Amino acid sequence: MSAPPGPRVLIPAVGRAATTVLDELAAMKTPDADWRRGRVFSLVYHAGEEHERLLQQAHALFASANLLNPMAFQSLRRMEAEITQMVAGLFHGPPSAVGTVTSGGTESILCAVATYRELARAKRPWIRRPQIVAPRTIHPAFDKAAHWFGVELKKVDVDDDQRAQPEALARAIGRRTIALAVSAPQYPHGTIDPVAEVGAIAAQHGLPLHVDACVGGFMLPWLERLGRPIAPWDFRVPAVTSISADLHKYGYAGKGASTLTWRDMTWMRHQFFVATDFPGGIYVSPTMIGTRPGGPLAAAWAALQTQGEDGYVKLTGAAIDAADRIRAGIRAIPGLTLIGRPDTTIVAWGAAPGGPDLYAIADRLEARGWSVDRTQHPAGVHLTVTANHLAIADDYVRDVRAAADEVRADPSLARAPVAAMYGMMAKIPVRGLVKRGVRQLFERMYAPGVIVPDATAPADDAVGRLLDKHGAKVDAVLDGVGKLRAKLKRGTRR
Ligand SMILES: *Cc1c(COP(=O)(O)O)cnc(C)c1O
Repeated sequence: MSAPPGPRVLIPAVGRAATTVLDELAAMKTPDADWRRGRVFSLVYHAGEEHERLLQQAHALFASANLLNPMAFQSLRRMEAEITQMVAGLFHGPPSAVGTVTSGGTESILCAVATYRELARAKRPWIRRPQIVAPRTIHPAFDKAAHWFGVELKKVDVDDDQRAQPEALARAIGRRTIALAVSAPQYPHGTIDPVAEVGAIAAQHGLPLHVDACVGGFMLPWLERLGRPIAPWDFRVPAVTSISADLHKYGYAGKGASTLTWRDMTWMRHQFFVATDFPGGIYVSPTMIGTRPGGPLAAAWAALQTQGEDGYVKLTGAAIDAADRIRAGIRAIPGLTLIGRPDTTIVAWGAAPGGPDLYAIADRLEARGWSVDRTQHPAGVHLTVTANHLAIADDYVRDVRAAADEVRADPSLARAPVAAMYGMMAKIPVRGLVKRGVRQLFERMYAPGVIVPDATAPADDAVGRLLDKHGAKVDAVLDGVGKLRAKLKRGTRR
């Protein structure tokens, strides 16, 4: 079991001085990811110190305000309405377009899935287990929404560019299908799904189409302004009924702000929840959460106002320059290859067939002080590139090259614990085993008194133990499966 917890932390019996507490908070940041210097490639979108201060000031002005009651806080309702209009304009929505601001991409997606389910309940009540069809690169927020709302998420394979295949999506549509969903772009590799083609299929089947532009909503329009070829992905595609887009990503807002925009109220009306019998009064809520914090809304509104179109175009120009530079650098490194289409400011790269072990390179890159996001199926490294990365693009490529050289010189690095773990986790065919291991890790993390489980004892780690126990077996099984497959292939050729 986990280490015995220390004494339980209690609320101070007597309040402490604000200055002491603020000093302590500042000190707590020390072990955190250093995003200001550009060594982190997701999680934080930084548009410079001046912008950061603006977000803080706007947030502070409304830190205690609550949009749960829009009559009491008309300021917040006005900001929400104006953000919705600005976003609808940016996405070429018709004059009827409506929407809400949410706490993040996940909440936007939860709302969309819940709404399409409600709509299906109203219009096609005979469907017992509604289904949404999407490419397998769709964000896990859809899995979460499907899981919680009793919807089946039917995932369809993608092409070699990690792009949704319209015909495959069409084939997956059945009598229980209530909506289609695609990404612009998908998060892992930055590939934009063929929205217009999928839209044609949606129209043909009379199905709504959600476009998840959580990461792309405030990136693609500016890339288009910069003259990049971006195929239509927004409300210009007539079949698109809803779009999720995160302000707290390339909108460079403070954390806790996303948008869900609908073509018109016929869809959005099914998003509103009303409880009439609560002794506390009639309760109505348009999104997942109850209390709706004013701070993130004000910071997001301020970000849109101060950046303006010219500010975003400039930030996006720097980001795409950085992304292109990194892509060119990676292409020039022997044994490495890019994954997905190079259309956006997201970069993904991996090892070419016969190249050095990807997860070992990732380890060596981390050892050089980079925060590394590892992808699986295929194994790769993901970078959400922002304006803040232009300054470090060349350093990054240099360190990737050095890391790849290291692994080429010493292939045994692939068997180092972290690389081996990622390799194994990606390979284990029994995904239930992986799920159990990860759940156990979180049970340890959230055990009483624990902040982060002891990382110095990886062998004692639940996932590690699991792999120790089953790793050899899994490898043997995989070997067998591989041989069988090869045999079958030879068989069919004959
Ligand atoms: C980030 C992201 C989400 C989820 O957004 P959160 O703000 O992390 O909840 C969903 N879809 C895509 C494509 C994303 O990039």
